[in-house]
Amino acid sequence: MTRIVSGEEAPFEGHDKALRPQTLEEFVGQEQAKANLRIFIEGAKSRAEALDHVLLFGPPGLGKTTLAQIVARELGVNFRATSGPVLAKAGDLAAILTNLEPRDVLFIDEIHRLAANVEEILYPAMEDHVLDLVIGDGPSARTIRIDLAPFTLVAATTRAGLLATPLRDRFGIPLRLEFYTHEELSRVLTGAAAKMGLGLRADGALEIARRSRGTPRVAGRLLRRVRDFAAADNALVIDKAVAGKALARLDVDEQGLDSLDRRYLRALIENYAGGPAGVETLAYAIAEARDAVEDVIEPFLMQQGFIQRTPRGRMATAKAYEHLGLAAPPPAGR
Ligand code: ADP
Repeated sequence: MTRIVSGEEAPFEGHDKALRPQTLEEFVGQEQAKANLRIFIEGAKSRAEALDHVLLFGPPGLGKTTLAQIVARELGVNFRATSGPVLAKAGDLAAILTNLEPRDVLFIDEIHRLAANVEEILYPAMEDHVLDLVIGDGPSARTIRIDLAPFTLVAATTRAGLLATPLRDRFGIPLRLEFYTHEELSRVLTGAAAKMGLGLRADGALEIARRSRGTPRVAGRLLRRVRDFAAADNALVIDKAVAGKALARLDVDEQGLDSLDRRYLRALIENYAGGPAGVETLAYAIAEARDAVEDVIEPFLMQQGFIQRTPRGRMATAKAYEHLGLAAPPPAGR
């Protein structure tokens, strides 16, 4: 999806990386996750052991990759990154694992998309730091065991529920990342603006933060677009008025919803009388992939109280009707 408010990384967003916070101190928000990490990192360092495996879960763009890098930096070890879909064969993962140095951090993004045969060799690697490789096939096949350096796996997933229980159980440190508050996003934006050499006033930062769906990646992206509009208008400082005008042109409304969110809500309300409607049906109605609907659209709409998830399907709330300027049906009719 190429949405300005998508938490997913768009192609060519690599320059984002210059803005990444480098230390836990600099990383805004996620206080509980940070507090836990601080304690566990200190413990591992004082014992000169590898940190326990960490599972980071939460919607895209909340800082999972950033935190993984920070963990490696705070531990003072190397950082290796790969992702579930990239590791097609067991040998791909074996090549990476055998190259790790003691206590290194291996980051696997989208761990829920790991192939079953790759996942299988990951279990003994995580638990006993060994690699069991099958060589050859048929009657002459045999297994060889290779010792690995003790390492820390930091894995990220948008939905922990998609992981097989035996995999999930192997993470000693599961951490859920939450959507950011407007105040936290304002701080993220102020920091990013300073690094970009941009004049961003507090009211401008808050205006962008309010429309960033609780997601730092969206905040950063909106900031760059607002900067372009401000430059075109010869505005030297980004304040509430400049930001608001630019965001209106980007079709992001005051609640941070874009046209796709509104289409989703409209489909739920107008085609299915406000629900309950199944996710499959809704994804079809707005011509989006089910994964995108579940990972990107729904978590924010749910967190903001526009929809509810019930055993029978999704339901639009009164707030959704109100936001679209539609009359809510009488409660008895729901
Ligand atoms: P994820 O891996 O969860 O999709 P990333 O770690 O790639 O998210 O973060 C997306 C963008 O948001 C990055 O550019 C990062 O610099 C920025 N970012 C994320 N979390 C924070 C934070 N807590 N403070 C400042 N910037 C952040």
